[in-house]
Amino acid sequence: MFTPNAYWWLIIPGLLLGLYAQFKVTSTYRRYMREPSSRGLTGAQAARTILDRAGLTNVPVEEVPGELTDHYDPVQRKLCLSTGNFHGATVAAIGVSAHEAGHALQHQASYAFLKVRMALVPVTQIASNAAIWISMAGFFLGFAKIAWLGIIVFGVVTLFQTITLPVEFDASRRAKEQLFRLGLVTSAEQAGVSRVLSAAALTYVAAMVSSLLTLLQFVLLARGDDRE
Ligand SMILES: [Zn+2]
Repeated sequence: MFTPNAYWWLIIPGLLLGLYAQFKVTSTYRRYMREPSSRGLTGAQAARTILDRAGLTNVPVEEVPGELTDHYDPVQRKLCLSTGNFHGATVAAIGVSAHEAGHALQHQASYAFLKVRMALVPVTQIASNAAIWISMAGFFLGFAKIAWLGIIVFGVVTLFQTITLPVEFDASRRAKEQLFRLGLVTSAEQAGVSRVLSAAALTYVAAMVSSLLTLLQFVLLARGDDRE
């Protein structure tokens, strides 16, 4: 029988923040994708310069399909840039590419939060898969009955997303520092880079808030169950 979760409404703030973050990142990114780089640098060239200057000549910069699919692969030690950022000679492309290079710099510096985050990846993958089943089981069996399972699973996911925040903010900080130090952007462009990276960081904050509120739902349900 369908059993409603008394605290379901807790998903609403996270959902709204997530939608706002998505809107913000898309609109900011598109705006600065129209702003050409005064140095005529593409995202790939900016990332290459940052990596080479840090002595990371062995870290390749590769093109991957899709929009904003950019990431640093710490296992294969390579930078993957989406087509638009790889070839784009714009403020947005340089900002995102430099951010990914920032992750490679963190790896090189053995940045503690990056190491913790990497260590948490396998257990988080298991928890993320379990989360779907837990939500379904809760829907049919009653959320209070599986509350403790929910706390463990969403506890892991929330921990991972919390650790992700300093990693993302630090990568952006390193990106801006290098872009400025190496003279890859003007000070006006630097402001644009900051806006693009702040908007992107907001999506990580939204994801963390969503998980935290889901975790809170299960904590409240577990407490209710104990009182019965
Ligand atoms: Zn990042």
